[in-house]
Amino acid sequence: MKIVLLGPPGAGKGTFAAQASKRLGLPHISTGDLFRAAIKNETSLGKKVKDILANGLLVPDELTIGLVKDRLLQPDAADGWILDGFPRTIPQAEALQEINPAELVLNLEVDDGLILQRLMGRRICRNCGKIYHMVTMPPKRDGICDACGGELYTRSDDQEDSIKTRLAAYREQTEPLVQWYGDRNLLIPLRGKGTPDSVYAAFEEVLRNR
Ligand code: ADP
Ligand code: ZN
Repeated sequence: MKIVLLGPPGAGKGTFAAQASKRLGLPHISTGDLFRAAIKNETSLGKKVKDILANGLLVPDELTIGLVKDRLLQPDAADGWILDGFPRTIPQAEALQEINPAELVLNLEVDDGLILQRLMGRRICRNCGKIYHMVTMPPKRDGICDACGGELYTRSDDQEDSIKTRLAAYREQTEPLVQWYGDRNLLIPLRGKGTPDSVYAAFEEVLRNR
């Protein structure tokens, strides 16, 4: 199955994708994670995108499309994937349609108020990438990952200014994709509020009814 996840920052794409990836045995491909890894490893791509990510702006399409193209050619992506954070613009969606079209596009819907609350409280494990929330999904021990004991950190773009920029970028550049995929009969809305398990249950219901 080839699944694209749409939805604003904070909709729960990463959390959902991690769950779906495990249960369906498909690779979770997150462009945000790929960019953050490039930054951490100080590659030439990382150097180009570091400030863009910190400010909450979108990376230029050519760079992003090239990155995804390479990733989708890897053997583990042959039987399907869960794309999280791509496409984010119409040209990216058009490129994907040419390279390797999506079969299912899930649109995670959440209100702006919830987005801000979720992103301001988000913490991520430096070691295994597991996502926590200070209020709704706190780790057992402060600042430490339950799963692997790694250190939890706050993403550099999870602060009010960058969050606002990311939301604006979403509204202007990404939200038109809802209509775009809707026109191609690929879009399935999914309510993103509630617990990760309840969102996943709603997705399983969708699969049963297909
Ligand atoms: P979120 O969905 O919470 O905003 P992501 O981890 O998906 O976070 O993305 C973080 C940042 O990575 C974005 O703000 C943007 O700078 C960059 N990025 C990720 N995916 C794309 C993409 N498809 N096109 C352009 N930039 C991207
Ligand atoms: Zn961890």
